[in-house]
Amino acid sequence: MIPADHPRYRSLVARERLADAARDGIASLEGLTAHGRGEAFDYLIGERTTPSAAEAEELAARLLISARRPVISVNGNTAALAAPAIRDLQEASGAAVEVNLFHRTDERIQRISAYLSGQGIVVLSGEYERLVPLSHGRGLCLPEGIAAADVVLVPLEDGDRCEALRRMGKIVITIDLNPLSRTARMATLTIVDELTRALPAMTEACWSATPGDPEEMALLIDNTKFLREAKEAMRRRLTDALD
Ligand code: ATP
Ligand code: MG
Repeated sequence: MIPADHPRYRSLVARERLADAARDGIASLEGLTAHGRGEAFDYLIGERTTPSAAEAEELAARLLISARRPVISVNGNTAALAAPAIRDLQEASGAAVEVNLFHRTDERIQRISAYLSGQGIVVLSGEYERLVPLSHGRGLCLPEGIAAADVVLVPLEDGDRCEALRRMGKIVITIDLNPLSRTARMATLTIVDELTRALPAMTEACWSATPGDPEEMALLIDNTKFLREAKEAMRRRLTDALD
């Protein structure tokens, strides 16, 4: 039992949730280590949503509600940490949800799908096909899901896959605390914020956003600006720590 007044309460709860999810066959062991990398960057950014990330979250919400076929790709960590927030974002944005895993097994796909359905999320099902130009299981996705999407939200994604989705002509939104990662640099729009802070902010923004043309919006996005601002926020915190 984690005491609610512990200064690192949120972080400890997240770790406990992920460890439970790994034991339940939802998160992968590799996913646990990926979370640690995210935590380190969250420390550097001050465990808060910067004004720049808030701006990216609003833009992302607008892209999702404007999309012809918005799809949210959910992996083990995202399911473990944020299923209720995914449900709310699905309701607000009308996006389809596809379970898509980097460390893929059919069993884990089934377990995560069942878990998300139990949380009130409408989860796509069907035959996964290799429609993303990548070898092995990494190229698998659903024909009516990611393959058909014009805008795809891929939180905590791998750089290679992010790049492949861009090559397919998709507008790719990611949530990634590491502004230096390949994913962060390859996406159309990167939200440098922690997953469980970013998703509720996006949901709220969906309810008040006005739709537009997603292609036109995407052309106007300067993703390097968001990455620069995130690096700047981290640099400032490190410099302040010298005093
Ligand atoms: P890339 O393949 O994009 O170069 P990577 O190999 O460094 O990145 P991965 O393990 O592929 O990283 O993906 C995990 C990414 O998700 C990391 O960049 C990590 O910082 C980020 N991350 C992990 N947990 C969270 C979280 N809860 N919220 C936001 N970002 C997170
Ligand atoms: Mg990677």
